[in-house]
Amino acid sequence: MICISTRGQSLAVPFREAVLTGLAPDGGLYVPDVIPRCPDAWWQALRGRPFPEVAAAMAERLIGDEFSTAELHGLIAGALNFPVPIVRLDQQLSVVELFHGPTFAFKDFGARTLARLMALVHDAAEPLTVLVATSGDTGSAVAQAFFRVPGTRVVVLYPDGQVSDVQEAQFTTLGENVTAVAVSGSFDDCQRLAKNAFANDTLRRRVKLTSANSISLGRLVPQMFYYGYAALHAPAGTRVVISVPSGNFGNLVAGVMAWKMGAPIAGFAAATTVNDTVPRYLATGRFEPRPSVPTLANAMDVGNPSNFERLQWLFGGDRHAMRELIASSVHTDDEVTRAIAQLSRRYNYTADPHTAIAYLGALAAGASLFLATAHAAKFRDVVERATGATVPLPEALAATVKRPRFVQKIGPTPGELAAILQA
Ligand SMILES: *Cc1c(COP(=O)(O)O)cnc(C)c1O
Repeated sequence: MICISTRGQSLAVPFREAVLTGLAPDGGLYVPDVIPRCPDAWWQALRGRPFPEVAAAMAERLIGDEFSTAELHGLIAGALNFPVPIVRLDQQLSVVELFHGPTFAFKDFGARTLARLMALVHDAAEPLTVLVATSGDTGSAVAQAFFRVPGTRVVVLYPDGQVSDVQEAQFTTLGENVTAVAVSGSFDDCQRLAKNAFANDTLRRRVKLTSANSISLGRLVPQMFYYGYAALHAPAGTRVVISVPSGNFGNLVAGVMAWKMGAPIAGFAAATTVNDTVPRYLATGRFEPRPSVPTLANAMDVGNPSNFERLQWLFGGDRHAMRELIASSVHTDDEVTRAIAQLSRRYNYTADPHTAIAYLGALAAGASLFLATAHAAKFRDVVERATGATVPLPEALAATVKRPRFVQKIGPTPGELAAILQA
């Protein structure tokens, strides 16, 4: 798969190089030069097949020129070794559960695949530092995905005091090749620090840096698989519209790429918190990032979504074409609390705040599927307050929360981060 930069000023590179580099040298994001469009018959032949089979077929079409069939099967079997249940709530509405990986959130798809891709393509003699800024779930998924992968180290930047206790426990209790750094500032500050480090040539000569944020194309490709799988799950001929709880918009970009590949999807609903930069763009044509505001769905609190650049590229900058495929809606914390209560009452379904936003997006747009991106237990305080019922903590999470934590604290200044990276 030949990859080019959204800004058009970098050389085209093979996918394996885009995986290692993360951000393109011109500051843009890597995108596939061409997304192969598979004919309807190809998709129909995959109908009813299990998730790993759909994933392998899509992977073969996308990156089969760079990896052998055996490598792709090994990659999928190793990284995506958990179920993807589709739960039917009623005649019109089903939920695709993406939180059955080791960190109980959908970011396991991207992070685990990326870690194994990097292990496949990088020269183990040169140690690799994975730098990741997180508003919660990315950090745990990336830390868990790279934990003990030889020749790699992970540095996780997160806003001090702004991630949930369980999220924090998941990336601060590992130790070994995982360093957790609490930044006194917002997620946007963390993202800026990471971008600064990647732009610092002196630093990059000393430390072999790479990214595992949703800016990495290596994370987006595996996310395409569940869109293909979910679309094929609906009865043939039904209009499949998928509601995606969106923050940095990597998930939605993966969905649009699956659609471009010909997956039988009629449209998307992008549902956000009050951090509504993209819905405002869709309505007005102006992209005006704002500082992020904290909400109950903290993994979606992004004021300046990086993947917007990819979204624009996918539509050639045509906002009207984007609006034809993507509806959007914005949801407050009050609505989220009520939605969690309603899902529990109406369907006996326990949803976390991010999933509740996807549900609200589905109602607003008449979508037939919505994505559940985190396990309710990761946000049990909010969920218990909304429903009045106890949410049991899965055993693996309960054990993690009790382990000792290793954290370094810094201010939002590039110098302090550079010192840690060179340590
Ligand atoms: C990261 C995250 C999102 C938002 O996904 P994007 O790809 O950033 O739009 C939604 N829900 C959960 C639980 C997340 O961790």
